[in-house]
Amino acid sequence: MNSADITTVKSILSQPQKIAIIPHRNPDGDAMGSCLALYGFLKKKGHTVHVVAPNDYPKFLKWMPENDTVINFERENPKAKEVINEASIIFTLDFNDLSRVGQMEQVLKEASADFIMIDHHQQPSDYAMVTYSDVTMSSTCEMVYNFIEFLGETDQIDADMATNLYTGIMTDTGSFKYRSTSSKTHRVVAELIDKGADNMAIHQEVFDTNSPSRLHLLGVALSNMVILPEYRTAYITLTQDELDQYDFKKGDTEGFVNYGLTLEGIIFALIFIENREEGIIKISLRSIGDFSVNEFARAHFNGGGHTNAAGGRSETSMEETISRFNDILKTYKYKLNP
Ligand code: 5GP
Ligand code: MN
Repeated sequence: MNSADITTVKSILSQPQKIAIIPHRNPDGDAMGSCLALYGFLKKKGHTVHVVAPNDYPKFLKWMPENDTVINFERENPKAKEVINEASIIFTLDFNDLSRVGQMEQVLKEASADFIMIDHHQQPSDYAMVTYSDVTMSSTCEMVYNFIEFLGETDQIDADMATNLYTGIMTDTGSFKYRSTSSKTHRVVAELIDKGADNMAIHQEVFDTNSPSRLHLLGVALSNMVILPEYRTAYITLTQDELDQYDFKKGDTEGFVNYGLTLEGIIFALIFIENREEGIIKISLRSIGDFSVNEFARAHFNGGGHTNAAGGRSETSMEETISRFNDILKTYKYKLNP
């Protein structure tokens, strides 16, 4: 954030404001962690603050401090709209374009509030009065820590805020192993532990609370995996029938896509998940190294994200989607074998 923006934000936050904080649709640990930590910070500063999530988030995040204050736009629509319409300031966290909030997009576009974006995704749209965008950052949570640091107020970070920020950094870095994890990330994480984040407990809450059916679904996913050594690619499919058979709950497929990358020589991994209700195949893409899944998802599957982690969708059947994917892949043989 440049010094003019820091001055602007300091001046805005010196007066009591009505603030709405918005994560992207299907919020993940980083989206929820950054929103909840900022919520804690802004409340302490005397503002009226609400986090409004476009829709529900997984059970493995429902222990996070203050998560019971989150307003769900789908479930509590009138209240959510009221908060957004009455807000003087709207923070949008962990996304780069208003289309990432689904049905909430129109309500945000009509809001009279000034927007502040904090995000680490590529190609940010230009809708905010203040845009704090940095694609080199591990996570939006690391950026929220920086944001508080820019304001000179890290002494305000309490154990709950530290726990929320730690959770998002941990989940967005694959437990501190992705390329975006810097020495600064580790310094921030060390500070958060000192401020009360219980790193072992957080890890257990997020990763060691599986249901038996989720592990059985993982078994199906792994046996469905198709490995294409020629393209250094591995992909998984899960149909709605398979999800139903294993009592699928939101978040159950989180992390499945990464198994492809644990194969020696594989640098491109995908998972295609059928969602019959939405009539789409949701696609998650991951890579190792310079192959950009952000560009791949943007070019072919109406999506985007980061160089090494992106998402997208297909509006045709699983069979057609996979067949189209296989055709597209042929044109990437060189890029995947540089
Ligand atoms: P995931 O595969 O975990 O859903 O998402 C991976 C990354 O891509 C996340 O950073 C997420 O915000 C981004 N992403 C996921 N789905 C979409 C999408 O449909 N469009 C865009 N632009 N980004 C997405
Ligand atoms: Mn993120």
